[in-house]
Amino acid sequence: MYPKTIQKLIDLFSKFPTVGPRTAARFVFYLIKLPQTELEELSSYLKELKKSIKMCSWCFNSFDPSLRSGQASSEQAGSEEVCPICEDKTRDKSLLCIIEKETDLTAIEKTKKYKGLYFILGGIINLKKKDKKDIRIGQLKERIKNNGFKEIIIAINPTTEGEITRLLLERELRPFNIKITHLGRGLPMGGELEYADPDTLSSSFDSRK
Ligand SMILES: [Zn+2]
Repeated sequence: MYPKTIQKLIDLFSKFPTVGPRTAARFVFYLIKLPQTELEELSSYLKELKKSIKMCSWCFNSFDPSLRSGQASSEQAGSEEVCPICEDKTRDKSLLCIIEKETDLTAIEKTKKYKGLYFILGGIINLKKKDKKDIRIGQLKERIKNNGFKEIIIAINPTTEGEITRLLLERELRPFNIKITHLGRGLPMGGELEYADPDTLSSSFDSRK
């Protein structure tokens, strides 16, 4: 129904998180109105994205290896696989916080409350698809196995799907015999971590149980 290029872009944008076909179409018609220079800028950033950003081999956080400070940045590639948080020697290596996605990590870091490590699951249980294959449970268990954590905090949105994911994680991680907690009061049921204000998120860390 649309010209082929437009339809192709709509299809691509429709795959973005929380974007449906109607929003995707609005994106495309917004892009059509932009000056060519801005489109080229956008497209050059897109081209660079995968080249300039790496995914941490331990926690799956995205980071820019060129911004790493000190000696590490001059080391050979391959030693650059770990993100600044995992590498930071001042962080508490006995604490692990499991989150769904990078934007949750950013929200938690903003509170300055939490000083442990993270693990990004990469998704939560999707009730429609009943699918676990997008969630990094296998890798998570690998990380927990050899690291001597004293506490694992599950910081996942208190939505229905988030709660189901949390219960699944608690069941999967119980055999490790490590204290498992989740965020406490403050976050409204159905709310999303990344939109919570820092004070609320901070106090939900304090009241974790
Ligand atoms: Zn990391």
